[in-house]
Formats: sequence, structure tokens, C-alpha cells
Amino acid sequence: MLSPSRIKARAHELGFDLCGIARAAHYPELDYFTEWLRRGHAGTMTYLHRSARRRVDIRQALDSVRSVIVNGTVYHSPHPVSTDIRDRRRALIARYAWGDDYHAVIGQRLEALLAWMREEAEEPFDALPYVDTGPVQERVFAQHAGLGWIGKNSCLINPDLGSWLFLGEILCTLDLDADAPGFDRCGSCTLCLDWCPTGAIVEPWRLDATRCLSYLTIEYKRAMPEAYRAAAGAHVFGCDVCQDVCPWNAAPAVSADPAWQPRAGLDLPDLVDLWRLSDADLRALVDGSAMTRVTLEMLRRNLAVAIGNSGDRTAIAELDRPRADAPSVQSALVQEHVAWAKAREIS
Ligand code: SF4
Ligand code: SF4
Repeated sequence: MLSPSRIKARAHELGFDLCGIARAAHYPELDYFTEWLRRGHAGTMTYLHRSARRRVDIRQALDSVRSVIVNGTVYHSPHPVSTDIRDRRRALIARYAWGDDYHAVIGQRLEALLAWMREEAEEPFDALPYVDTGPVQERVFAQHAGLGWIGKNSCLINPDLGSWLFLGEILCTLDLDADAPGFDRCGSCTLCLDWCPTGAIVEPWRLDATRCLSYLTIEYKRAMPEAYRAAAGAHVFGCDVCQDVCPWNAAPAVSADPAWQPRAGLDLPDLVDLWRLSDADLRALVDGSAMTRVTLEMLRRNLAVAIGNSGDRTAIAELDRPRADAPSVQSALVQEHVAWAKAREIS
């Protein structure tokens, strides 16, 4: 008999730290997404508009879906948080990207859980596993599956483990008993709003992606708007500030999983060391991590801005050193940001 308790036990065996079940209902929070899109907060992420109907109505993804099994995996490793780094030559890379690409790792574990469920179930059922990229508002279902609550920074926070969590879910046509939903524990705290370098959390629970460094350094393919370049500081891929300052992450759970430990060269590398890499070596450095989401030109764009922000003349001088093995440096996109970085030093 395929019971929720057996599914959860198997999920834990497969490396998931949290597993809960939500009904595939139309929760009111799902409709907020439409309003968020209407306000223009998605910026150039047009795929969100294209998949909006499916994101609001989970049945568009899987007809006759009845349950959503949501799994959470802690990825925090015992290394300093970005708000404690004072050396402005250290490149800040979002913690989730330090290890192996979570899409692949979590995807394999979900497939393994689903394969086991199919073996154990008395009758065939339809199911779809998703990791982040699917048209599912996973944090809403995570909250309704009892994994935690959606904080004012829009992250899913578990009261025992914190918010350094990868989420992955299985939509299925099985009628499974649901867990009690999580409830808001942010209270009167506003630390994430107060600390956000770009003011992207425009009000509690409303994150304007077009101002967010995660969007500007990863999703946004064009020139970084000048208004946000200084605020980007040393962030070259994503941003963890609104999680770093969250009190629920003061003593977060730590993962010993080798998949999430920092790869050599991705935990606080020197900005200039990264810049000096050939294109082949830079690509090799990020291969297999979530950082492959950006092109080399975008990564160098971000590096040029961060080097400009370092205020370090030696570092800024490196931007002009000719490199035959790094043609991405010569792209118009990168060169415009190099010029900005050099002008920043002169002024
Ligand atoms: S990720 Fe960074 S820029 Fe984006 S909302 Fe959080 S603190 Fe602000
Ligand atoms: S920093 Fe405070 S307001 Fe923001 S998510 Fe954490 S508890 Fe909630």
C-alpha cells in the first residue's frame, strides 16, 4: 500500500530532508502570480507570461492531478555568508550554485522516488516530476504541504531548517492524504526589505524581479541598467542577501551532501582570478553547476561591474589586459561594462 508515510520515508532515504503532500487545489495564493506579471515584475522573462495559465492552474500541467508531493533539500554548507565578506575582491556567487547543478541532482532523486512509487502502487497512475523549471508555483504548494511558509523575501522558510532549500515536486493523480499547511512566522520583521541592495522587495511578499540582482546577473541578457550597477557590489551570479540576514537562517541546517559542497574555484574566488581565465577555463569552471545558465559574455559583464565596484586599481587595470584566449571579453556587451568600470575608478 502506497501511503504518505511510506512515500516520506522513501523520500528521506533518497536524500530529501523534507517531504510533504498538498492537495492539487486552487489556492488563493496562486492567483497572485497573475497580478505580479501584470505589474511588470517579470521583466524580460517572457516564458513566465507564456506559461502563466499553467502556473495558475496546475491542472493545465497534468489533467486530473490530485496530489502534489513536495520535497525539500538543504543545501547550506558551513561557509561564510555574503553579508560577512568584507574583501571587495571576492566574487559573490549565490550559494545554490556552488555545488552540482540542482536541476540534475534533484531531478534524478525525484525520478527515483517516482519509479519506486510506481513499483509500490496497486494501480497505475499519471505523474510529472518538476524541479524549479516546471510551470508550477512550487513555493505555494510547499507551504500547503506543510514544509514551511513563504517569507516576505519570497523564499520558502522551514522553521527548523531555514530557507537554504531546493524544492522539487511530483504532481500525481493519486489521492493522498494532505499535510497541514505551514503558517507565516515573519511577524514584524523587515530585515530582508531593509538589507536588499537594490530595493527589489518593494513591499512584503512583493519582489520586483527587474530590480533583483538574481534577475539582473542571471536572467537579464542585455546591459545591466546603470542604476543598479553600483548596488550590485561583488555579486557576479545571483544574490543571497535577503536569505543571509533572515533570522530563521541564524543557525541553519547544514548539508553534508557532497553534491552541495563548493566546487573548487566557486567559493569566494578572487574577481581578477576569474577575469583572467581563458574562455575555455571559465566554461570548464562552471560546467556541471547551475552557473551554466549564463553565457560567458553575461558572466564577464557581471565580473566587469564587480571589478569596477571593488575600487581596486590593480584589479581594474586587469580589464584592459589583452587576451587572445578570451574572445568573450571583446563582445560589445562586455566592453561597455569594462568602460563603465574604468570610468568608475577615475571619478
Ligand atoms: S536576491 Fe538580493 S537583490 Fe534580490 S531581493 Fe534578495 S536581497 Fe534583493
Ligand atoms: S528576513 Fe524577516 S521578514 Fe524577511 S523573510 Fe526572514 S523573517 Fe521574514
